[in-house]
Amino acid sequence: MIPRTVYEPEHEMFRESVRKFLETEAAPYHEQWEKDGEVDRGLWNKAGEQGFLAPTVPEEYGGVGVDFRYNAIVDEECARSGLTGIGWGLHSDIAVPYIVRYGSEEQKQKYLPKCVSGEIVTAIAMTEPAAGSDLQGIKTTAVKDGDDYIINGSKTFITNGQHADLVVVVAKTDPQAGAKGTSLFLVEAGTPGFEKGKNLNKIGLKAQDTSELFFQDVRVPKDALLGEEGMGFVYLMQDLPQERLNIAILAVHSAQGILEKTIEYVTERKAFGKSIATFQNTQFKLAELDTELTSATVFLDRCLELHIEEKLDAVTAAKAKMLTTDLQGKVMDECLQLHGGYGYMWEYPVARAWADARVQRIYGGTNEIMKLIIGRELVK
Ligand SMILES: Cc1cc2nc3c(=O)[nH]c(=O)nc-3n(C[C@H](O)[C@H](O)[C@H](O)COP(=O)(O)OP(=O)(O)OC[C@H]3O[C@@H](n4cnc5c(N)ncnc54)[C@H](O)[C@@H]3O)c2cc1C
Repeated sequence: MIPRTVYEPEHEMFRESVRKFLETEAAPYHEQWEKDGEVDRGLWNKAGEQGFLAPTVPEEYGGVGVDFRYNAIVDEECARSGLTGIGWGLHSDIAVPYIVRYGSEEQKQKYLPKCVSGEIVTAIAMTEPAAGSDLQGIKTTAVKDGDDYIINGSKTFITNGQHADLVVVVAKTDPQAGAKGTSLFLVEAGTPGFEKGKNLNKIGLKAQDTSELFFQDVRVPKDALLGEEGMGFVYLMQDLPQERLNIAILAVHSAQGILEKTIEYVTERKAFGKSIATFQNTQFKLAELDTELTSATVFLDRCLELHIEEKLDAVTAAKAKMLTTDLQGKVMDECLQLHGGYGYMWEYPVARAWADARVQRIYGGTNEIMKLIIGRELVK
């Protein structure tokens, strides 16, 4: 065992409270939420009351003002218990930080306290039907009209898309200027012309609401601009390492949770008159997976430490995302195999975890894009 050194005793106390909350408020209902295609909206408010949402938000805006380790603990606990419908990571680790970092004083006061309390659920809308990896190819525009902007375009695959009260929308303010013509806007649900499309039917993350969003002549005041006009792409590049760290945390800790469940299963299950845990193949598979997960955890924790010190660079974050999500896929597949036919049954956590894991290599920048980022740096 390599002891984890990234957390202090106060973090472990926080972990305990998150774990207890999830056991009572989420785990018993998650199966129903899978059928509903979304978690109960009230869960967000309950989590807000406990201080589990966006804990890094400074105290003057209603937050706890702690470092990213508290976000990481919430992510770890959701992942380990397979509660993949809960979109707090997207809110706390990805969308809300844009408001904290680039928001005006007025925007921060208006939105952040409600993001912390759970009254506001956030989303970030980058991807479009014809542009995902190629973010510069987005077609959504925000055209100045007097003191306002008029937004037109459509987005897809947006996490928290049904529940979202506030969306960070990526749009072109100068379509001729390439990356320099990209800006971010805060668009509130209910703004005329902003419609949520259907909740998308995915192969995994069944309790997670993922949606299309449509913007037709959506008029927003100039105060809806987040940060400076034309700086959107720069902001996205600056903040993507935290998004990739979030994905890596989910990868390692959901894999760890399933490995533990698999060890229990193979110990109980018998074939040819003995526990399948006694077969050399079973032990060899478990040994390989445990070894790889141990080394991934050490690497990931080091990335987390660097991130707390604001030293995690984009290339290292890309390595963490790629390494851990590839490993997650491998762990889920091998663990499913060790469950035999039961592993293919939805009621077994390993089946869900196998389906949930697949997207981790796709969103947050595909793993091919991670290789581009890493490879470019190597040969520059
Ligand atoms: C469940 C889910 C949740 C999501 N949540 C969000 C969200 O909240 N907000 C948001 O904005 N987006 C979200 N996404 C979108 C996600 O980020 C994109 O799907 C992803 O970036 C890939 O884009 P794409 O689907 O357009 O694939 P494409 O870009 O069309 O890629 C297709 C294939 O081509 C490969 N490829 C593309 N370019 C290159 C290249 N230069 N070199 C080599 N290979 C390449 C890709 O790796 C991939 O294998 C989500 C997606 C899913 C499925």
